[in-house]
Amino acid sequence: MNKITLGNMASRIPTEADAYIYLETLRWPEKPICPHCGVIGDHYYLKPENGFSRGTTRGSVSERRVWKCKDCRKQFSATTNTVFHGSKVPLRTWLFVFFEMCCNKNGIAAREIARKYGVAPKTAWFMTQRIREAMANDSSGKLSGNIVMDETYIGGKPENWHKNDPRRAKDGYSTAHKTPVVALISEETGEIRTKVITTVSGPNIRQVIKENVSLATSILHTDSAGVYRTIGKEMAGHHVVNHHVGQYVTELSDGTNKAENFFSQLKRSISGTHHSISPEHLSRYVTEFAYRHSTHGLSDTERMVRLMAQTPGVRLSYRPLTN
Ligand SMILES: [Zn+2]
Repeated sequence: MNKITLGNMASRIPTEADAYIYLETLRWPEKPICPHCGVIGDHYYLKPENGFSRGTTRGSVSERRVWKCKDCRKQFSATTNTVFHGSKVPLRTWLFVFFEMCCNKNGIAAREIARKYGVAPKTAWFMTQRIREAMANDSSGKLSGNIVMDETYIGGKPENWHKNDPRRAKDGYSTAHKTPVVALISEETGEIRTKVITTVSGPNIRQVIKENVSLATSILHTDSAGVYRTIGKEMAGHHVVNHHVGQYVTELSDGTNKAENFFSQLKRSISGTHHSISPEHLSRYVTEFAYRHSTHGLSDTERMVRLMAQTPGVRLSYRPLTN
């Protein structure tokens, strides 16, 4: 795969048909893979009768490139069973937006996508959410080794709330109106897992660690908060840096610095790019950040190819997002 930039993408995919060919090279670098039966092979390309486009079941015309599996005999294209499937947005636009979200360190706001690519604001927002779902569709498994964990609180600027906002009533703690987010980072690889939780408690923290970390082969590094104590005993080790006595690094890790850096970048970006994010959507934004952070060692091109491999199986309808 040649280096991908926005500029060379624009020249390589002037039409929808080119966008399909491009997606095929990203998803099937060797031979087409049938999404129905998984066979990699010399499937048949179904040339459109007019050599250019074909009618769709919806009665419109599409330049979609269709293949027929030589094994299961079913038809498919590079978009079958992926986030792109059934979308009315041109594949070209999807590819540009994917690339922007892969490579902009601070992400890109839906309103900017709407303006830049001429799609409705609601459509742009939906596209970004689907791309975040693909980013979450990561199958790299549990972390192991030296794991740094920390928590932070995001959102809620009470000074912006209306004077009758019910959230004011339960204010009192500085974190009462904010949403807790935890991050787990591998000291060795920089891979990161995140989770938005309702409250920072021992059982919640334990649950997040169990879902994301191999307990027997991992050493946990945290600050001295009590919520890590119980789960720490179930792991290969638990190192605590005591910030109260000015300790920030240990022999095995640089304390919780990696997590703190991640959180500060996340917060800067949320306020700079997205301004504010409602608590119910926060987890998708955090996932997007974690994805770029985990893949910081890859080039933009490698990150894009990797994300394309995560698009199968991700289909998100509008309803679960807005419920
Ligand atoms: Zn097949």
